[in-house]
Amino acid sequence: MQLDHFKFFSANLTNTCMLRCKMCHFWKIAPEAQQTLPLDVWRSTVAGLAPCVNPGFPIILAGGEPLLVPDLSRYVAAATAQGFSVSIATNGYLLDERAIEQLIDAGTRAFCLSLDSLDPSLHDELRGRPDCHGRVLRAISLIKRHNPATAVSLQTIIMDATLPGLLDLTRWALDEPTVDSIYFQVVTQTFATPLVPHWQDSPEHAWLWPRDLRAALFALDHLIELSPHRKLTNSIPQFQTYKAFLSDPRHFALPTSCSIHRAGIHLDHNGELLNCHLFPRLGNVREASIPELLTSETYHRNVERILACRVNCHSMINCYFIDP
Ligand code: SF4
Ligand code: SF4
Repeated sequence: MQLDHFKFFSANLTNTCMLRCKMCHFWKIAPEAQQTLPLDVWRSTVAGLAPCVNPGFPIILAGGEPLLVPDLSRYVAAATAQGFSVSIATNGYLLDERAIEQLIDAGTRAFCLSLDSLDPSLHDELRGRPDCHGRVLRAISLIKRHNPATAVSLQTIIMDATLPGLLDLTRWALDEPTVDSIYFQVVTQTFATPLVPHWQDSPEHAWLWPRDLRAALFALDHLIELSPHRKLTNSIPQFQTYKAFLSDPRHFALPTSCSIHRAGIHLDHNGELLNCHLFPRLGNVREASIPELLTSETYHRNVERILACRVNCHSMINCYFIDP
């Protein structure tokens, strides 16, 4: 079975994190519920997937925080040995010189680093620990010193607190030689919290939502103007979808149905394959191959649910967005 029509395979190797982000509560997961995908399960997963895709198919290792996974470089090496192109999505906090050397030498092609502001105090406040900002900047220069060909991509959340500095951060990223690209996500409900309808109005999450809609739309229009720039990863349709979402969050932001079932293959820290976090898991890679899980009855039932879904969720609007 060929699976090249998917854009990437993302694996959340762990559901733990050492930061205390205000917009994500992975770090509140109780110790007894914290889990990491075992290396042997990962090895057999990538070995089973490799014949279904062309060499160089992208794998994104994420979490929680993937740098908390013991021997992460061996996960990278296992995927690289099967011909995959591996990126790591990380908050950067644990990316010291030794970790960077190990991960690059194991075959990591790219690091996607969270950076929400040029202002260290704002970034650190949002991320809940001192020196997060400094560590990200140090990690960028260490990555490029170890291997200039390893890509550095920034990920920035558009939310009320980051809006005033958004365009300065963009200009810096576009001019900075050590940064290869920048990708914006629009704010959605705090991660790892139970979904609530109209979260923008709820006392717990409302502070995230841009209060100044005109400023948000102005910033997005500016990003659209800049978007021919090779370093700006979002497409114009995605920025336009962000505008629609911010203008009327109660209205489904896509002009078409959600297409997450076509965007990526997603594995969680338990080894469960899923096409949408809201609907039943497709099954566990310990018990069935990825091609079997992607042709199962649950998969087809989920596709029907996905096509009918009208939730403006993080996955649809950000990471798994496909141009309509
Ligand atoms: S957003 Fe990332 S860094 Fe922050 S708590 Fe969640 S997983 Fe950790
Ligand atoms: S919009 Fe979100 S919740 Fe609905 S099917 Fe798509 S990914 Fe799932």
